[in-house]
Amino acid sequence: MEKNTNSCKDTDNCRIEYSALHVWLDNLPYIIMVFLGSLMIGLAFDKLLAVLFILYGAAGTLWFIVFICPYCHYYGSRACPCGYGVLSKKIAPKKDENRFHSVFKRNISAIVPIWLLPLVAGIYNMFNVFSVRMLILAIIFIADSYVILPWISRKYGCVNCPNKAECPWMGTGKKKAA
Ligand code: SF4
Repeated sequence: MEKNTNSCKDTDNCRIEYSALHVWLDNLPYIIMVFLGSLMIGLAFDKLLAVLFILYGAAGTLWFIVFICPYCHYYGSRACPCGYGVLSKKIAPKKDENRFHSVFKRNISAIVPIWLLPLVAGIYNMFNVFSVRMLILAIIFIADSYVILPWISRKYGCVNCPNKAECPWMGTGKKKAA
């Protein structure tokens, strides 16, 4: 029987190896989201909160790499579409892949506020003093973080991920059979 080398799930002889360009394209919507969010928070409140939001965005990525990627089949592999898997191996030990689904669900809430805080800041700001600039930023933020980022993840970044059947982000989350 031919081994499945498209998903790398059933073989260690994985042939998928994403280029640096692919990795950057996969990460770009997240980077844009964090900087746009920072700008919105900075305009709504002050520069310190804007800087803290960027630090939170970076910490969110680190959280993912440290607490989720070690449970992934792509840990340590260039077959990880966004490059986190390679970074994860440098800073965290490998964990049990069978726990990926539950670990993902438990930890993803740590970074969900990155999608929400800029909108809260923008709405608060526009309630106080309506601003076309903030409205435009909010529309671009929503387009990037709620449309483009998930679309790229599902169609481009995560399309070959071995964990997509168990991944809540992909919307097909099912626990693996024990
Ligand atoms: S595919 Fe996702 S969970 Fe797996 S190593 Fe890459 S970023 Fe981490």
